[in-house]
Amino acid sequence: MNQSRILIVDDEALNLEILHEILADLYSVTRAVSGAEALEEAQKTLPDLILLDIEMPEIDGYEVCKHLKDDPLTQNIPIIFVTGRVEVDDETRGFDVGAVDYISKPYNPRIIRARVNTHLELKHHRDVLEELSSLDGLTGVANRRAFDERLSSEWNRATRTNSTLALVMVDVDFFKLYNDHYGHASGDDCLKQVAKALADSLQREYDFFARYGGEEFVAVLPGMEEKVLQQTIAKMCMTVEALKIPHAESTVADCVTISLGGAIVVPTRETSASELIVQADEMLYEAKEAGRNRGKTR
Ligand code: GH3
Ligand code: MG
Ligand code: MG
Ligand code: MG
Repeated sequence: MNQSRILIVDDEALNLEILHEILADLYSVTRAVSGAEALEEAQKTLPDLILLDIEMPEIDGYEVCKHLKDDPLTQNIPIIFVTGRVEVDDETRGFDVGAVDYISKPYNPRIIRARVNTHLELKHHRDVLEELSSLDGLTGVANRRAFDERLSSEWNRATRTNSTLALVMVDVDFFKLYNDHYGHASGDDCLKQVAKALADSLQREYDFFARYGGEEFVAVLPGMEEKVLQQTIAKMCMTVEALKIPHAESTVADCVTISLGGAIVVPTRETSASELIVQADEMLYEAKEAGRNRGKTR
């Protein structure tokens, strides 16, 4: 393993100095003295781990954490809160916004090193598994790489056999509000339930379902007639609504819903699979515009 890179964030120079002292001989350590600087630094250097102070002026640690978890580029970086706050409420709030651990001040160097090491190892193992796996680590459905491979092989097969290929893009409605209201951990749980229900709802042998990224999923449906595609999309939409996962902040329903965009083509050598994705995406956009909790097909 190369030397791991750690970003330490604290508005007090002395705290940064102490943390640096504890970690610098083992890791490559960079510092940030404010929430804004932390976000900039995290996006620029993509560290393996962030030690984050909570109490900072302007953008506090909770906000920083939320921003990082909202950005696909930074959402997998483990965040440990390091803080003087010791109330249970503070700690649970830390986990709610997506932190993996919580260390309280005053610092105990051995505890800090041990926890940092543990989380770096976990992150490394997750990265390796992700690299080897065709499954999405959170939801257990196929991941983006598996989707890319499957779409390409189904595209080639449909081209050879002159048959149709349909693609459905799925996006959870108002999911940012869901996270903000129920916490990131509940958000993760919601994504798992939605993924499982959708995967279970597709039953033909060649149907393929994957997590496309974030709160977006995708289905590849070979040899499907347009009418059946519309029925399938309607069924997927109802399946999620039927889970009745409460969503107090949604303006379309009182539970979690999805929007879907479907497109169908008979592939040729002159066209490409990415055009199918673009078309499904456009339909998804129209479904959102038309009021969400519905599907549109072209
Ligand atoms: P819309 O109805 O227009 O789709 O609104 P939205 O809020 O769903 O869309 P937006 O793209 O603004 O927000 C997507 C959110 O999904 C932001 C991000 O925090 C959240 N998200 C992405 N991946 C994960 C994840 O793995 N876990 C959790 N809990 N949230 C995630
Ligand atoms: Mg502080
Ligand atoms: Mg989205
Ligand atoms: Mg969404």
